[in-house]
Order: sequence, then structure tokens, then C-alpha cells
Amino acid sequence: MSASPPTAAVGFEYAPAPESRSIVDLRPSYGLFIDGEFVDGHGPSFKSISPATEEVLSEVCAADASDVDAAVKAARRAYNRTWSRLPPAERGKYLFRIARIIQERSRELAVLESLDNGKPIRESRDVDVPLMAAHFFYYAGWADKLSYAGYGPDPKPLGVAAQIIPWNFPLLMLAWKIAPALAAGNTVVLKPAETTPLTALLFGEICQQADLPPGVVNIITGAGDTGRALVEHPDVDKIAFTGSTDVGRQIAISAAGTRKKLTLELGGKAANIIFDDAPIDQAVEGIVNGIFFNQGHVCCAGSRLLVQESVVDEVISSLRRRLKTLRVGDPLDKNTDVGAINSAEQLARIRELSDIGEAEGAVRWSPPCDLPDRGFWFPPTIFTEVSQAHRIARDEIFGPVLSVLTFRTPDEAVTKANNTPYGLSAGIWSDKGSRILAIASRLRAGVVWANTFNRFDPTSPFGGYKESGYGREGGRHGLAAYLAGVEEA
Ligand code: NAP
Ligand code: MG
Repeated sequence: MSASPPTAAVGFEYAPAPESRSIVDLRPSYGLFIDGEFVDGHGPSFKSISPATEEVLSEVCAADASDVDAAVKAARRAYNRTWSRLPPAERGKYLFRIARIIQERSRELAVLESLDNGKPIRESRDVDVPLMAAHFFYYAGWADKLSYAGYGPDPKPLGVAAQIIPWNFPLLMLAWKIAPALAAGNTVVLKPAETTPLTALLFGEICQQADLPPGVVNIITGAGDTGRALVEHPDVDKIAFTGSTDVGRQIAISAAGTRKKLTLELGGKAANIIFDDAPIDQAVEGIVNGIFFNQGHVCCAGSRLLVQESVVDEVISSLRRRLKTLRVGDPLDKNTDVGAINSAEQLARIRELSDIGEAEGAVRWSPPCDLPDRGFWFPPTIFTEVSQAHRIARDEIFGPVLSVLTFRTPDEAVTKANNTPYGLSAGIWSDKGSRILAIASRLRAGVVWANTFNRFDPTSPFGGYKESGYGREGGRHGLAAYLAGVEEA
């Protein structure tokens, strides 16, 4: 099933190395996780499939307004009766326990994440799940130290948090949302994305295993309507949303004029800037990691490559050589670099924007690769001859597609990098520390990576400028979103 990289580049062929899926005990159907129990919802059921094979994995329920209400009521009860009354160190103990169970069950979580999402097991095993555990460990440590977080002597939780996450990092986004909320003393109702509900439900089992008091965490599955019912519920104190800028806008409108506190983590179109003094081989690895990690389904992906004109030929030829070695195929194969596109809908969007790129005059290139017949696949793709006006230089494609632009001077690099409605992340590659600092301070982006890309750490805040949203997740800053009377950092 894996595409074969040319043997000249690798020297030998890899044997298949599939991770066993027997560790995952999938039930044919799942209810909603409300008040510590899996219960039948009232809405219609829908199927979650593996995007790599289109196999149906399980059926889940689309929570309706009455289910949403039951989940919010459970969260409110738990907030009033148990969670907000527990000594903070006790809250911390539950979070430490959850973190340890995540580690113990990490292989099961990684396999299920790759099955339901399509991402390579190498990434779910080595990035998503370890970072998820790290977030719980990190925020567990804050639970009894909130008075020292710089938000006043005795900061208070908000109450019930409604949390809505996308499909690109289901477990990691769950951790970014749930860990700080619980550490700060809130209870939560979380809705995973329609196409990736299964690992969030497995997290419900982990909450049971950790003996978390019922109602502290509630997981309701469903699509946009369920999300809308949740954010519009009158008894929600806080909305934390990660997803597209369009939906973020709708949520901001619905929350305006209410008491609900809101944080939005939205889209991006990051510039990855390569100066002529950059270590080119390392930069090429960073470019690949920046846009082909997780099939490019990454809000902070380095989707706009800005290369100094004098090195563009060298960079592009090295990049093409490197792309020929990427292995596209079975997400559960431990040798796979690029997995499946998450859904037919997302694949259609990537195809559409790529076709527009070609029609507008950019030059498209992909390495030779045999894509599987079933499932949703798109080859790693580079566009050169891209101008700033092209749609592929402006719109978030959210797929394995890189748009290459060039610049001559540092000023031109900064102007082009900032020429976007987004402002989530950026990368700078240069041998000179002074240049990196000077350029970084002029980029309008929440995160700027220097001589690296797509690095995440629970201690480091993450979030956007402009249409990439507001509020920060991660680090001490991430607590602000869940504490009363605290302005966003
Ligand atoms: P999306 O369509 O906005 O969906 C995000 C979540 O919101 C999903 O759970 C979705 O449900 C739900 N939803 C849809 N309509 C809603 C409504 N009217 N009210 C409440 N909830 C609603 O985004 P996506 O396509 O899943 O995710 C990709 C986007 O997320 C990209 O733009 C990416 O950049 C962004 N993202 C940002 C960050 C960040 O930290 N800034 C991180 C990851 C992703 P269903 O999809 O299940 O129907
Ligand atoms: Mg799925």
C-alpha cells in the first residue's frame, strides 16, 4: 500500500511494518459521556470511518439540544458540588493520575488516533500522545500553585467551559483544552470533530479509570449543530474554540453581549523564511516538517515558503530530492511519513485550491508516488512561480501543499510574511542570531520558530494575531483563559 520511493535514493526497499490494531477494543457503537457514564443520546447516529480505507470503525451519536443540556447540567452540578470545592492539590492529583493513565495506554491511544484520523502512527505515537500526557502533567502542577501564576492572590475559576475542537489533532487539542480548564477548577463539556470522535470517547473511559468525579468532564459527539447548541447554551461561562476562522466568527457573534468568556484559536497561513545564509540541509528538513507533518493539516503549518532569491534553485532542488523519499501510505505502518487526508470533504478542498493554483499560473510539482485506491489521499505537492495575489498564497489549504515565493531583502521578506489576514506562526532560517531576533520582532505572528518549525511544548504559550484568533493556550498564559477577572495575556 505504501508508495515506493525510488531505490536510488534509499538503497533498499522497506518491508511493511504495520502496528497491530489489536490493542484497540472498538465497540460497534458509543453513547455520549455525560455525568461519568456512557449514555444513549437522543440525536441520530453517524459513522466514524478510517480515512485511509473508508472502513466504518464505529457508530456514534449526534447529540441534540436535550443532550447538550444534560451535559451542561452535569458539568454545572459537578462544578458546584465537587470540583470547585476540592482542595487544589486534590484536583492536581486527579490530573496527575490522568496523565499517568495516558502514558500507560499510549499505544492504544496512538493506534486509535491513527485509525480514526489517518495520521501516521509515527506521529501519533511520538508527537500527539506524548505531548498530550505532557500537557496534563504540566497543568497538574499548576493546580495548587494558581496563587503564584501572576493572576492575583486567589484566582477563581469561571465555572462551566464549553470546548470545541477540530479533527487535525483530536487528542492533543483535547489536552490543550481540558488540562488547563480542570487545573483552574472549571468543569467542561467538550465536543470533538465529527470525523474524529473516537479518541475523545476513549478519554471518557480514562476519566472513569481515574475515578474523576462524575460530570467534571463530559464528552458529547456530533457535528456543527451540536457545537452551535453547546456554545449557545445559556448556562455556559466560557467558550474555548479551535477551528476555522469562519466558524470562529459565528461563535464570536453569538457570544457577543453575553457574559461568556471566549478564546478562539483559528486558521493560519504561516511564512517559513529561508535566508541565503541558512543551513540549507537543515532548512529543507524544517520545510518538510513545516508543511508535510500531519499531511499539512496543521493550523500553524509553514504553508508559504519565502526563499531568498540567491538560494532558491538550491533550496527547491534539495526539497524535491527530499520529497522523493517521503513514504505516503498506510497510517499504521511505522515507516509511513505522510498518511491519509482526513475526509473526502477536505480532500475536495485541497484538490480545488490546487487546481486554482495551476489555473492562476503557478507551477505544480509532486514526487512520483502510487496512492492507494481506497481512502482519501493527496501527494506532497510544491507550487513554484507563486505570486502573492494567488489564492494558494492567501487561503489556508490545510493539506500537504506548499506555495513557494521569493524575496531579495529582509524588508521584503517581512512585508511578504505579514501580508496575510492570519498571524499564527512563522519560521526564520538564518545563521545569524541578530538577524533572527530583528526579523522575529517584526513578524505579526503568535509563535516564531528560529531554525526549527512545528515545535510544541506545554510550557510555551500558543495563539494568534489578527484573524488567527485571540487568547493563548499552553504555559502560564493558558491559565488566564480559565480564570475569572483575568484579562487575556
Ligand atoms: P471547523 O469546521 O471550524 O470545525 C471546528 C469544530 O467546530 C468542529 O468540532 C466543528 O464540528 C465545530 N463547528 C462547526 N460549526 C460550528 C458552529 N456553527 N458552532 C459551533 N461549533 C461548530 O474547523 P475544521 O475544519 O474542523 O478544522 C480546521 C481549522 O481549524 C483550520 O482552519 C485550522 O487552521 C484550525 N485550527 C486552528 C488551531 C489553532 O490552534 N489555532 C489548531 C488546529 C486547527 P464538525 O466539524 O464536527 O462539524
Ligand atoms: Mg474518522
